Amino acid sequence: MDSPVIVALDYPDERQALELANTLSPGLCRLKVGKELFTSCGPALVDKLQALGFEVFLDLKFHDIPNTVAGAVRAAANLGVWMVNVHASGGRRMMEAAAEALVQFDAPPKLIAVTVLTSMSDEDLQELGYSQSADERVGQLAGLAASSGMDGVVCSAKETQQLRHDRGPNFCLVTPGIRLSGDAIGDQRRVVTPSQAMANGSSYLVIGRSITGAPEPMLALEKINRELSIVN
Ligand code: C5P
Repeated sequence: MDSPVIVALDYPDERQALELANTLSPGLCRLKVGKELFTSCGPALVDKLQALGFEVFLDLKFHDIPNTVAGAVRAAANLGVWMVNVHASGGRRMMEAAAEALVQFDAPPKLIAVTVLTSMSDEDLQELGYSQSADERVGQLAGLAASSGMDGVVCSAKETQQLRHDRGPNFCLVTPGIRLSGDAIGDQRRVVTPSQAMANGSSYLVIGRSITGAPEPMLALEKINRELSIVN
């Protein structure tokens, strides 16, 4: 599957999530299941989405002691998901334990780290006792993630170019904050179009409302894929 699009299933319950999934095609996108949906529906929903043919990004952002995160990542791999993530701020030993837990799998999920949540400002970081700016911290944590065995990081469109430059062509960059021109920005602050994000070096695009809020989500997805093949 060539499309870099991951559709965020930001719904509170299974009915809405499956309704949307049933309008999309697994040949044209992957699906992201986050904390809200997973907490209410659990692994059974992931199974159902996979049974429909979709590859699933389990976006649970694990952050705990190494042994616990290793177990959680192993459970995600047993569930058969395509991508799973942890917080880079859990540190080297936590990330290495997560990577080590996947060695036993023939087709392990991609293991991605969150650097700094895009909701965090420089002031928020200072309040937590960090002296670096958010940008500096993202760069440092991405380097730590790479050297701790992560396949890539989640990053904002603002950070993509620098991280692609620093980390080389094989590091996976997963970018949310995507909007089609003409769409409402909503609560996102820094948005780029799908083709801008790919041109900046993104590997995968997490897209929620531009697809899920469209009158015909499948048409929106097809439009994005068309736009991208023009760029490629
Ligand atoms: O609707 P929208 O396209 O803004 O959805 C983006 C998705 O990406 C949501 O699931 C959101 O939680 C997620 N996300 C984000 N910014 C991050 C990390 C994840 O918007 N830094």
